[in-house]
Amino acid sequence: KWDEILMSVKITHDITDVSFRTWLAPLKVYDVEDNLITILSNPDLGKDGVSFISKKYGIPIKVAIEEITGKNYEISIVLPDEAKEISKKENSNQGNSAQKNKYPFLNPRYTFDTFVVGTNNNLAHAASLAVAESPAEVYNPLFIYGGVGLGKTHLMHSIAHFILEHNPSSKVLYVTSETFTNELIDAIRNRSENSSTAEFREKYRNIDVLLIDDIQFIIGKESTQEEFFHTFNTLHESKKQIIISSDKPPKDIETLEERLRSRFEWGLTVDIQSPDYETRMAILKKKEELDGLQIDNEVMKYIATNIKSNIRELEGALTKIVAFSRLEKKDVTVELAEKVLKDLISPNNKKEITVDLIVEMTSEHFNIAQSDLYSTKKSKNISYPRQICMYLSRKLTELSLSDIGKKLGNRDHTTVLHGIDKITKELENDSTLQNTIEVLSKKINPQ
Ligand code: ADP
Ligand code: MG
Repeated sequence: KWDEILMSVKITHDITDVSFRTWLAPLKVYDVEDNLITILSNPDLGKDGVSFISKKYGIPIKVAIEEITGKNYEISIVLPDEAKEISKKENSNQGNSAQKNKYPFLNPRYTFDTFVVGTNNNLAHAASLAVAESPAEVYNPLFIYGGVGLGKTHLMHSIAHFILEHNPSSKVLYVTSETFTNELIDAIRNRSENSSTAEFREKYRNIDVLLIDDIQFIIGKESTQEEFFHTFNTLHESKKQIIISSDKPPKDIETLEERLRSRFEWGLTVDIQSPDYETRMAILKKKEELDGLQIDNEVMKYIATNIKSNIRELEGALTKIVAFSRLEKKDVTVELAEKVLKDLISPNNKKEITVDLIVEMTSEHFNIAQSDLYSTKKSKNISYPRQICMYLSRKLTELSLSDIGKKLGNRDHTTVLHGIDKITKELENDSTLQNTIEVLSKKINPQ
């Protein structure tokens, strides 16, 4: 994986071969502990070399690590001598690094304990807690809606954690509606071979609690809505708890069948709004505490004042500032924050649709590295998602075929055209692909 991370840095930042050989290629991972990766540099480069690498490539490396491993690590680039000293120190105070994630499908950090309650989400929080304490006895279904990055997934995982902690034998299933759809399609496709539709039903109906995240991605697919309708009825009739999230309330999801819409409204519908200033400050403080940081209050105020609508971005801003200050060995000051957050805060920061955004969403979807999509690799598990990127780039941007090709593996325009044709043809009768394209398009271009 390490080579892959370095390649990703090289490709996404257009680093010349000679710089790559000098600075990046000699870097070796020395140790991975909790959320810190210690990286050794070439000792010949000396202290100045290390500080140059940290300054120039630290953030790109950190970002590439996060993209490829899915985890947010701090990194520390050191000379081999320094590394030995660090490991001596650490041996004497070994902490709770053995803490394991008990429920692999849940994010261990998404619990009620870490959820900050404010005026924007107190109803959603209260309803979630009530459902967690008495599943299927209070609000069934519970329908939570709100914009991107406002805490829907966090609340759903909190409910699941709570139920599992208090009743370890209960069967709790958390899925996104996209997973539900894809598993259904696979089950139907393999129907003749074995009883996979029966397996599908067993999985989704023989449970105590079903949490379906982002139901908006189920819309418009009749057979999926039909199956979900029956799943819903079976669970509801046998008094099993259902929790659904969406970006909109049921009445505003236009392509939702009426019978589902009305069922979603049987229980309780609660919304999450954007947090106010006090809540934003409280969320930053919580993160400071959880990450063991100590940040100047003025800096927190600066972030809370300027990043308003999305909690993921709010937290991301703090992470970015801290990463920057460590790498540049500078104190966290308002001045540093202004510099680091320039792009995030710039007026009317509308997300433009770019090949990079398409690559980001596609790599996430197929669980492959972004660098692979930019690379010239030809294996099928990479070239196919890359063709999907070409198709989406053509549909969602104004770029020419050759511009698209240049970004995606340095292909010429005929190769791009071939890729787009292939996807277009397959779309005619491959319903998994139809679903993939539809979901990806929505994620890339919401609303
Ligand atoms: P959504 O599913 O609505 O898009 P998430 O649940 O993924 O949003 O939340 C985005 C990020 O913001 C997560 O890291 C989450 O932990 C954090 N977050 C959201 N709401 C809160 C809150 N009330 N308190 C603490 N963290 C929050
Ligand atoms: Mg979510």
